Amino acid sequence: MSVLQLDPLANENAEAALAHARQGQPGPVLIVGGGIGGLAAALALARRGIPSQVLERRPAFHEEGAGIQIGPNGTRILRRLGVADELRPHVGVPDALSVRDGRTGAEIAKLPLGRWIAMRHGAPYWVAHRKDLHAALLHAVRTEPLIALSMGFSASEVASGNGHVAVAAESGEAWSGRALIAADGIWSPLRSLLFDATRPRFCGKSAARSVVPLDALPADFQRNETTIWLFANTHVVHYPVCGGTELAIVVVLDDLHDSSDWSAPVPPFWIQQSMPPCAEPLQALILEARTWKRWALHTLPVPRQWAHGSIALLGDAAHPMLPFLAQGGVMALEDATVIADALHRYIDDVPAALRWYQRQRRPRVQRVVRASRRNGRIYHLAGPAALARNFVLRKLPAQRLMARYDWLYGWRPIETTSQ
Ligand SMILES: Cc1cc2nc3c(=O)[nH]c(=O)nc-3n(C[C@H](O)[C@H](O)[C@H](O)COP(=O)(O)OP(=O)(O)OC[C@H]3O[C@@H](n4cnc5c(N)ncnc54)[C@H](O)[C@@H]3O)c2cc1C
Repeated sequence: MSVLQLDPLANENAEAALAHARQGQPGPVLIVGGGIGGLAAALALARRGIPSQVLERRPAFHEEGAGIQIGPNGTRILRRLGVADELRPHVGVPDALSVRDGRTGAEIAKLPLGRWIAMRHGAPYWVAHRKDLHAALLHAVRTEPLIALSMGFSASEVASGNGHVAVAAESGEAWSGRALIAADGIWSPLRSLLFDATRPRFCGKSAARSVVPLDALPADFQRNETTIWLFANTHVVHYPVCGGTELAIVVVLDDLHDSSDWSAPVPPFWIQQSMPPCAEPLQALILEARTWKRWALHTLPVPRQWAHGSIALLGDAAHPMLPFLAQGGVMALEDATVIADALHRYIDDVPAALRWYQRQRRPRVQRVVRASRRNGRIYHLAGPAALARNFVLRKLPAQRLMARYDWLYGWRPIETTSQ
C-alpha cells in the first residue's frame, strides 16, 4: 500500500479509509474535480452502469468562463451522454468560419461549418458559453442515481493498494473506491503528487475574454458565423452564444503577466491599448465590450504516464492545451468516454483498464496538442510569411481546407464489449 500527501502534516485519513474499504465491496469510481471532464466522466460511467462519486473543491459552482467551441467530435459525445437536448437551446450553430485580415477587415477565406460539417461528421459544430455547457452536464449529473456529488472537498491525500483506492481532503473527510480519476484541471494537485511534478509554463500570451449582448452590436456582428481576425502576434475570435443573444469574444495576444487565474478581471483600456491598429468594425466591438477577463496561457509537455495502478488523470490534468484549435474541453469529453469504456471493458482489472485508456488517448492527444501549437504559429505570422498564409487560404478550396481536419472532427470511440 502507498499513501501520498500534498500536505505532510495531514493526518493519514486516506489510509484509514482504505483500511476500512478493504473489508467491504469495491466502492464507486472516485472522480476528483467537477469541471467539464469530471462531470462528463461520471455521466459516461453511469451510461455504462458504473457508479461514481464526484469530489469538487469549490463549495458551489459559479457562472465561470466565456465562450467554448465544441466541434463534432464533442457534440457526438454530448449526444451519447444524453446532454445534447438540454444544451441545444443555449448554443450557436455557426454557418461558417470567416477568416479576416485584422488590419483591413478584408475576408481572406470562408470555411464551411453549419450543415456542411454536420453532414460530413454526423454531428454539428456548436459554440456555447462555458457556463451553459457546465450547467447542462451538472443537471444530468444531479438527476443520475448512479452519481453522487460532494462539494467543498479539496483532495490532498491519496492511498492505494489491493484493488482499492482512497482519497482524503484537508478537512479530514475521506472516500474510498475501486478507481480514482483525477480531473482536477491544469494545476492538478494530484498530477504533481502522483505522476509528474513539472509545472505548466507560461507561453508569453494571454487570452482576454468578454461576452456582449448581440442586440447592442452593428449588423457586421449579427451574421451567424465564427469570425477570426488575424494580426501579427495577435488574433481575435468571436461567435454567438447563449442561443444567439450574446457574442463571445476572445483576444489572444502577447503578454508578460503570468497567473494561474482563469478569470482575472482586466480593465477595457488594457485591451484597447494592447490591440494593434485594427479594422473599424472590430475596433467598435472592442470598445463595446466593458468587462474582460484575462487567462494566461500555459503549456505542459504531454506526460509519459498518466495512469498507474487504480489511478488515472483526465482532461486538463493530463494534457492542458493551448486554445488555438478550440479542443481543450472536447479532449476532456473524449477522455471521459474512453475511460468509461475502458472500465466497462476490464471491469475486474482496473489497472488494465487504465493502461488501455492511456494507450488509446495519448497518441491522439499528442497530435491535437501539436496541431494546436501549429495553428497558433500560423495565426500569429507576420510580414511575408503572413502574406503567404493569406495567399494559400485564398487559393485553396474552402471545403478542402476543412477536410484537413477530418482526423480531428471525425473521431469516434472504439466500440467496446464487456470481457
Ligand atoms: C473557472 C474556469 C473558467 C474557464 N473558462 C474557459 C473558457 O472561457 N473557455 C474555454 O475554452 N475553456 C475554459 N476553461 C477551461 C475548460 O473548461 C477546460 O480546459 C476543459 O473543459 C477541461 O476541463 P477539465 O475538467 O479537465 O478541467 P477544469 O474545467 O479546469 O476542471 C477542474 C476542476 O477540478 C477542481 N479541482 C481542482 N483541484 C481540486 C482538488 N484538489 N480537489 C477537488 N477538486 C479540485 C476545480 O475546482 C475544477 O472544478 C475554464 C476552466 C475553469 C476552471
